[in-house]
Order: sequence, then C-alpha cells, then structure tokens
Amino acid sequence: MTTETRSTCAYCGVGCGVIIESADGRITDVRGDAEHPANFGRLCTKGSTLHLSAQTGARARYPELRRRREDERVRVDWDSALDFAAERFAGIIEAHGPDSVAFYVSGQFLTEDYYVFNKLAKGLIGTNNIDTNSRLCMSSAVSAYKIALGADGPPGCYEDIELTDCVLIAGSNMAYAHPVLFRRLEEARERRPQMKIIAVDPRRTDTAASADLHLAIQPGTDVALFNAMLHVLLAEGLCDLDHIADHSTGFDALRELVANYAPEIAAKICAVRSEDIRTAARWFGQSKAALSLYCQGLNQSIHGTDKNLALINLHLATGQIARPGAGPFSLTGQPNAMGGREVGGMATLLSGHRDLANPVHREEVARLWGVPSVPATPGKTAVEMFEAVRSGEIKAIWIACTNPVHSMPQQARVVEALRRAEFVVVQDAFHTTDTTAFADLLLPATSWGEKGGTVTNSERRISRVQAAVAAPGEARHDWRIGVDFAHRLATRLGHDGTPLFPYERPEQIFNEHRESTRGRDLDITGLSYALLETRGPQQWPFPDGASVGKAWLYEDRCFATADGRARFTATPYLAPAEEPDSEYPLRLTTGRLRDQWHGMSRSGTVARLFSHVEAPALAMHPHDLRIRGLQAGELVRVANARGELILPVEADESLLRGQVHLAMHWGAQFMNGAGSNALTSSAFDAQSQQPELKHAVVQVSRFEAPRQIVAMRSAETIDEALARLDAVRPLLKEAPYASCVLHGRDRPVLVYRAASPQPIASALIERLDRALDLHEHHATMAYDDARRNVSKHALVCDARLLAVRLVGEIAAADWLKELMASESALPSAGAWMLAPVSRPLAAQDLRGRTVCSCLDVSENDIRGAIDAGANLSTLQMTLGCGTGCGFCVPEIKRMIVARAPATTAERA
Ligand code: SF4
Repeated sequence: MTTETRSTCAYCGVGCGVIIESADGRITDVRGDAEHPANFGRLCTKGSTLHLSAQTGARARYPELRRRREDERVRVDWDSALDFAAERFAGIIEAHGPDSVAFYVSGQFLTEDYYVFNKLAKGLIGTNNIDTNSRLCMSSAVSAYKIALGADGPPGCYEDIELTDCVLIAGSNMAYAHPVLFRRLEEARERRPQMKIIAVDPRRTDTAASADLHLAIQPGTDVALFNAMLHVLLAEGLCDLDHIADHSTGFDALRELVANYAPEIAAKICAVRSEDIRTAARWFGQSKAALSLYCQGLNQSIHGTDKNLALINLHLATGQIARPGAGPFSLTGQPNAMGGREVGGMATLLSGHRDLANPVHREEVARLWGVPSVPATPGKTAVEMFEAVRSGEIKAIWIACTNPVHSMPQQARVVEALRRAEFVVVQDAFHTTDTTAFADLLLPATSWGEKGGTVTNSERRISRVQAAVAAPGEARHDWRIGVDFAHRLATRLGHDGTPLFPYERPEQIFNEHRESTRGRDLDITGLSYALLETRGPQQWPFPDGASVGKAWLYEDRCFATADGRARFTATPYLAPAEEPDSEYPLRLTTGRLRDQWHGMSRSGTVARLFSHVEAPALAMHPHDLRIRGLQAGELVRVANARGELILPVEADESLLRGQVHLAMHWGAQFMNGAGSNALTSSAFDAQSQQPELKHAVVQVSRFEAPRQIVAMRSAETIDEALARLDAVRPLLKEAPYASCVLHGRDRPVLVYRAASPQPIASALIERLDRALDLHEHHATMAYDDARRNVSKHALVCDARLLAVRLVGEIAAADWLKELMASESALPSAGAWMLAPVSRPLAAQDLRGRTVCSCLDVSENDIRGAIDAGANLSTLQMTLGCGTGCGFCVPEIKRMIVARAPATTAERA
C-alpha cells in the first residue's frame, strides 16, 4: 500500500513542500505539495527526482573506524564508534583545552540537528569552534542585515514577487539556483507585463537573458554600480528624503561618497553603459514597489558585506522596504541555512539570533542551557578553522553533513589540514564524498525522507520535515548522533550529560529552541509541531498568542537597532581580491548548473540529472578561444598559483571577453582534479568571514593529449551503475584528463573518458576492461591494431551493446552512448567494430543533451523544430518541452532567439 508523507525538498533555500510516496519501506515517488506556500505544488528537476536519489548504494550504512592512520577503516558497532570518538575528543580536550577541537556542520542540517551540535560545542565542551558551510553561502547577507537593519533576516516574503513593479536581480542566476521562485517571477510578469526586471551579472545567464535590462558588469564591481544608481536617484529627486530623515542614520556620509560615483565613472569601472545605469536607477526609484533578489554573486566576495550594504542603501534611500513588493531579499542557498542562523550554529553567533560578543546574550544562553557560562572567545570561522587544523592548533575535527574537501576554497590546504589532523570524524548520509576519504571515523546519518524536524526557508517560513521510511542500514539521525556522543563525552569530562541533552524526540529539541527565541526578533513561542502540522508552514516571528506569522518585517518603520533607525553605510568600491595581469590574464567565475546540487553527493546519483550538462568543461568566449587558437572541445589547462585542472573548453557567448566560467559542482568524484576550488582563493570578507569563491584569476592554454580512451557500461539499475562508478573512480587519477559520469534515463550508462599525451597505459586499459566486464568475456568482440595504437572492445548481448571501450579511435563514442542509453539494437552487430575507422554520426544526427528533463526532449529535436519555424507554443504542443515543471522555458526561449534573431520577439 502506498503511503503519503508531507515534507520539504532537500535541496535549495526556496524550501518547496513535497509529498513523498512510499511503499514497503521504500520511497517510490515524490510530487510537489499543492498546499505549501513556497511552491504551490511545483518542483524543479532536482526536487522532482528526489525519490531517485533515496537509499541508493551511495549511502553510508554502518559506522566505520580506522584506529590508526595506516589502517583501513573497518565496520564497527555504534557503541564502539561513539566510545572511541568520545575517548579521543576527551583526551585532546584534557591535554590541549576545549579550543583544540572543532565542529564543521551544514546548512542541510535540520534546525534540531543544528541546535544539538551548537549546544554540544558551546554548552558542553566550552568552545565556539563550530562553524558551518553556511559561512560559504550567506554570512555576508547576515552581516549586512545586522549592520543595516539591526537583525538578521529578509524583511519581505515570496509574495513580494507577485506584488512588485521592479525586480533587481543581482549576483543570482535564479533560473538555475532557485528555479521555483524564478518560475513564480516569470508568471507574475506574464500577469503584469509592465513589471521591470533588471539583472546584474557578468554572464548572460538564462536569468539575465529574461530581464528587460541586463547589466553585464565586470565581476566584483557591484558596489560601484549600486553607488552610481544612488547617485542618479539623488540627482533626479527619486530618494525619499522624509524616510531617510525619519527612519535612518548615516546618510550624510553616504551622500558625500556617492557624489563621486557619477554613472560615467561607474560605467568605466563596471564596463557597462552609463545610460543603462541611469535606466536601472530610474526604474528602481520610480516604481511603486522595488524588490531586489540576490545571492552568491554578492555574498561570495571579500567585499560581500559591502555589496549587500550598498544594495540595501538603495532600498533605505528610496523607502523601498518593509512594505508589500519592496525590500532587499537575499535568497538563501541551502535548505536550512536560515535555521542554522536561528539557533546560532556558527562561530560568531548564539542561539535566538544572539551575539557571541554580547556578555548579556552569553549569560542568557548559559541560563537557558543550565551551564555556568558560554565561552567569550569567538570560534574559528570556516577558512580559519581549516587553517587551524592545518597548523595543528585544532587537533580533532567533526564534519557533519557537508563536504569541505570539495566546497572550501583553495582545496589543497583543506586536504593538507585533514591529513595532518589527529582525528577526523565525518558524519554523512553518503560514503562517496571527497571528504569521507579522510575520515578516521565515518558515521552514517539519515537523510531526506528518513528524518523529522523543521527547516526554515528563504522567506523565514518554518516547515515540518517528516520521515517517510526507516533509516537504511544502521544510519542514525544527526541530532541523535550528537546526543549519543554528548552523553559519552560528558561522562569522560566528568559531567553528567543527561540534564544537558535529555532529548528522546526532535520535538523536545524544537521546544527548547523555541524557548530560546522568546522576546527576540525571531520569536516563535507561538509555534509547535502540532500547529505546523495542522496549519502548515509559518513565517517568523510567531510569538505566543499570535495567529499568524509576519510576512513583512519593520512595517512600523521601527528597525531592530538600538534607536529603531536603519543604518546607512558609506561603501566605497574596492577591487576584488585578484585582478588579471600578464601571467593570469583571465577572470574565472564559478556558478551552478540547472540540474546539479553542490558537490553532487545526492544529485550525482541520479543519471538523468547529467543529461542537461554531461561533464565538466570550461566555458570561454569565442573571441578568447580564437585568439588562443583553440577549438571548442579541445583540452585546456586552466591554472593559477593555487592549482590546475585539465578540462575540455567550450565556446560560450554568454560570457564577456576575458572571462572563463566553471560550474562549482564537479569535483574529484567525477573528474581528475579537485574542481573549481582547486583554483579559488581563501581570501575572505573581514566582516562576514565569507571567502571569495566566485572569482579568481587564471591562465588557460592548450593541453595536447592526443591519446584518448572512452569506456562505457550500461547498467540494469542505478545501484549497479553506482557500484561500477565506485570501481572506476580510482582510474580518474590515471590520466591527466579523465572524467567519469552517468548518462541516460531509465537505463543508466557509465561513461569514462580520458586523454593523455602518452599512449594510454595498458594497465589502465586492463583495469577498465575488468571493471566493465570486457575482460575475456565470452561475448566480447575486439578489434586491435597495435600498429595504429587502436583497440576497440565491445560486449554485445542479444544485439544490445552492454559495454564498449575505445582506445585511439573514439569517433563513434557519442553515437554508441546514445544507443546504449536507449537500449536500441546495434544496426548491424559487429560490423562497425571491425572497420578500421568508426563512422561518426554528424552532430545533428545525435540526440544531444536533454533540455526538457520532464518530457525528455533533446536540444537537437528542439533546434530542428525551431529551424522548421516553431515558436514556443508550437514546441510545447508538438514536442511537449516546457510543459512539465517549466524550468527549461528560459533556455528554450534563448534557443529561439539564437536561431532566429530577426523574428525573436514574436516567436520567443
Ligand atoms: Fe527543491 Fe529548490 Fe527545486 Fe524547490 S526550487 S524543488 S526547493 S531544488
């Protein structure tokens, strides 16, 4: 019998509601929750395939322990695992003090998980060394909200998207990163075509292409742009001087500063037209309601706080804040980054939005927890924490629900830190992340669909998360692992841990957290699990006695500062951490793919999520390709002083000249190399401690590697494909360029590609053949020509190609890949195999990448129809693309524009 369970999506900060279907203890399907106010039933490609990622072979199921560094990890029971961890932590704390240990947790924790780990570090051990991957994501937005408005939290809500007249999207490719909200914005504009959309982004992303005005600024120059917009607003009388006088402080210094930012000056810094800056300012200032939506393009910068503040200045100066349709709205990246901020689960915060630096706040928290004190010394923030591990100052680190070996900047240092650490605990739902390799103790955690608690989305809305099925193997809930460890550690440190961690159910933790918010800006004393379950998700604040949460903060114009006034900050433009020079002449920016999530530990287990973008590649403007004599598809070496990657390069006109772009998802699980963070800098914002993950300078040169190998294996199930991926992964390091990804939909295909300047080593070929069942198999067909260094082996069963390995001559690879994924019969079994040159199909004869994931419609089918005269609605009617979740619509529109520039308007 199928059971339905109401919960939320595990991926981004939009926080969509889902209904999980399960039967016989397994998750069988997922759909959007029509009653959830974040998505009203919608899900994007990632959310709608969540069920395919549940309980796969990539899951960690049992604790594994390595007692000595030179040993392999072996399976142990939970008691042994936690006793060992408590012993090691207690020993290190007793010998070196509480600050010799650290916890690095995650915006993907539920609020209850976060609460327990925060209390464990600060309340039991007495260290503030707990930070989170939210430091890499939202901390600049937090700093700016606190400086400007007095408290953390976006003042508006999603409904603003329907109510606004002008949307300024800055540093966010919403169409990919927050797709359900972007769809909501597109629909709002269809209903109200007079709405203006301005996009600020160095790249012409799908979001930027949909805007009425795209300001393609040079990376990192946002502050100059916002200052110039304020200059125009002042010059043209579009500021609300009464609002400024009555409800803010600090405007005079800002006015003086922006006098120096005439649009013509900013235009030179930003490399955009001064007239466009004026237009943006006018649209923003003349609109009845102006909303800004922003994300990592502002946050992940050494001037992230200033970028946020300069944007908030625009809202405060025009009174475009704290009313329907208006306000500065930071879009949170992770599903529960907000919840982590609420419980103060960071090195610089305390529970209930309290400040660590405030002695009264420390005392309040100590009283709430029933401990003598909370330490005053600030903890190490993410970059500082791993540096302290590297230097030996921190000796033991507990990493939960996150993958810093992939996501931290300047990765080589993080790897070095974990190699040097005395003891590394990794608590994760997946055993496949780049970080688990460094775990002395691996603790399996429950994940989406298996655990219960609460999360808070980008609009301050708290939802219940519910379990649909039991934990796989011996996996435990994150909060439970924290509590079980805390009890053991307390005993070894000579305390009784039970009064501090009395929890048997997550609801008890929620109730304690709720109490910590009493009287605070985020007061949720009126909420309970029962209320969230019966009345649905609610926004904070929701104090005792309230019947509804607050959609808009500060509606009374009383901000959360001591004097109730918002604060302007004079924000001079400062250059990014690095600028191009003769050695590193190109700017590298990093960003997201539509169908992948973070380090791909979950989304990388779903074959169809590779169909939009199959493998890592460096995007470069065609002009830059030309002047380097490069062809799209060639291998290049992209490098700077911190590291290098060997990748194929692709032409991308969405970039400005002088820039290259790399998706942040790819890492050592899918390529030879650490991904974009091999190149990024660990320089961070002085106020938010958020590192500059978005931008670095690099050089790019051709990498000659004419010897190529492609090996593919179709699998009956995703678990079989993932097991083969595990077997092939070690071979990624066997050639300078190598990638290994999944392909297909119902029948996953593993695709391994490698290239080398030297002949492909016979040992690599043999290991691949073994991993893919091509080795001496009775059904293997072979063509070997040692003179030409060509070798092709294939495994064919019932006229179906099950596996193939091509060395030296790989022209047929894409065709064979599509054949395997579609389970089609070989046209004439074996004939192609024996031919001296495999006949490649022309690109247009291949299916190509998938644009519409819901209806499985390929790029080439769409192109063909466009060339035959189709517009968007014809495409939707004939091919069905864009009629499912609708998230491919911006891309289809872009394809129509690209194919038929003369008739763009009416066809797109
Ligand atoms: Fe999940 Fe975000 Fe997609 Fe919603 S928009 S389904 S929360 S990934």
